[in-house]
Amino acid sequence: MTEEVMPDRTTGPESQQRWKYLDTILSRPGPFTDPDWEPGPPVRSALQSAKILCSCLYMIFIACIHTLILDRGAGGLGCEILKNLALSGFKDIHVIDMDTIDVSNLNRQFLFRQADVGKPKAEVAAKFVEKRVKGVKITPFCGKIQDKDEDYYLQFTMVVCGLDSVEARRWMNATLVGMVDENNPESMKPLIDGGTEGFKGQAKVIFPTMTSCIECQLDMNAPRAAVPLCTLATIPRQPQHCIEWAHIIAWEEERKGDSLDTDDPEHITWLYQKALKRAQEFNIPGVTYSMTQGVVKNIIPAIASTNAIVAASCCNEAFKIATNANPFLGFPGTNNYMMYTGDAGVYTYTFEHMKKDDCPVCGNLAKPLVVDPDSILQDFIDSLAERPEAQLKKPTIRSEEKSIYYQSPPALEQQTRPNLTKKLSELLTDGEEVAISDPAFAITFKFKLIFKS
Ligand SMILES: [Zn+2]
Repeated sequence: MTEEVMPDRTTGPESQQRWKYLDTILSRPGPFTDPDWEPGPPVRSALQSAKILCSCLYMIFIACIHTLILDRGAGGLGCEILKNLALSGFKDIHVIDMDTIDVSNLNRQFLFRQADVGKPKAEVAAKFVEKRVKGVKITPFCGKIQDKDEDYYLQFTMVVCGLDSVEARRWMNATLVGMVDENNPESMKPLIDGGTEGFKGQAKVIFPTMTSCIECQLDMNAPRAAVPLCTLATIPRQPQHCIEWAHIIAWEEERKGDSLDTDDPEHITWLYQKALKRAQEFNIPGVTYSMTQGVVKNIIPAIASTNAIVAASCCNEAFKIATNANPFLGFPGTNNYMMYTGDAGVYTYTFEHMKKDDCPVCGNLAKPLVVDPDSILQDFIDSLAERPEAQLKKPTIRSEEKSIYYQSPPALEQQTRPNLTKKLSELLTDGEEVAISDPAFAITFKFKLIFKS
C-alpha cells in the first residue's frame, strides 16, 4: 500500500486510535513507575473530567521537548528513530544528516522512494514523517554534526544518535561533555546512542559527566584486527582469508597495473574465482560471490530487523526520560547499556558500564598507556591509530615541558619532525603525562606513558 491511498488519520476516531496506547501509559503508573509520579485518584479524576488537561499534561511532557536525531551512513537507524519518535508523541524534532539518498538505501530506509534518489536524506525524511504524523514539526539540516556549535546543541532537551562512525560519536560525546556547566543543570543533555553492526546492536544512555561516556566505552568497539599477511600467504584458515589473498596478493601478482574497481563485476568475479580455487586447495568451504564483495568492499551488511530493535530501544529511552513514566537506562548507579545479539538466537543483556576516572573526556586522571621505551616516536604514533583505548589517527603530542610532535602548522611540524626517529626514552621519562590532540576531536586527551620493563 502506498502512502497516497492510506486513510487520513489526522482527525476523529482514527487519531484517537493512534494515540490510545500512548495516552494509557501517560495516564496511569506502571509497576516500575516512581511513586512520586503516580497520578493517584485526584489526578486521575482531573484527567477524566477534562480531556484538555490530559492534552496539557501531554504538552508539558512532550510537546515542548526538542529532540535531535543524528544519522549518518549505511546503518539507516535514522529512518526508524525518526518514525518512532514522531509516533511516540514528540512534537519538535530536528534531524541532521549529511547524505543524499542512494538507490541501495531503498530496501530498508523506508521513508525514501525511487523518485527521491539523489535528494538529501534529512529533508525527504522530515517531509515524509510530517505528512504521515500530523502535528509533528521536523526541522532538517543537511550537513555534518561538526558544522554546529555548542549554542546550537544547547537548545535541545536530549540528543539521539544513530551514527555509523566511531569518530562522529566521539565528537558528539566530547562536545556534550564539554558543554556541561555545573551551575546550570540545563546544560546537561542526555545522549542516547544506538549502533548496529550486522546482527549485533546496542543502545546506551549517557548523562554527560555523570555516567560512563562513549570514550569510557571506547575499548568495547576495538577496530577489527587485521589478518597477518603471512597467514594469507601460507595457511589460510577461513574463506575470508582466501578472498583477502586474492585481493591483496593474487591481484598484485597477476593483474599489476590494473587498478582494482570494487564496483566492477568483472573484477569481483575474477577475485571470487581466484579465492574459490585457493579455498578448494586448502579444503575451506564457504567462499561465495557476495562474501567476496563484502570482504573486498569491507561491508558489514545492515540488517533491517537489528535497526528496528535498536531504534525502538533508543526511542523507548527517549520517551521515558521525557515523561518519567518508567525508569530509564542511564540513571547514575543503574544499568546504562543494552546489547543485543541476533546471530545465534536472540539475546539481550543490560548492564552498568562504569565511568572511568582516567577517561580522557569525562575523567580527571590521565589514562595509562604501556609503551616500549626503545621504540621510536613514529611507531608510537602509528600505534595510536590501532590501540583500542586511543584510536587517534593524526595525533599531535606534547608533554608539559616540550613539543614532541605537531601535525600542523607546517613550521612546527618541520621543527618536531626529527623526533619521529628518536626513541621514546630519549623524549620522555617513565610515567610522564602527555597531551594528545587530534583534528577529529575538539578536546585534548591526557595519557600517562608507562615504560614496559
Ligand atoms: Zn568518559
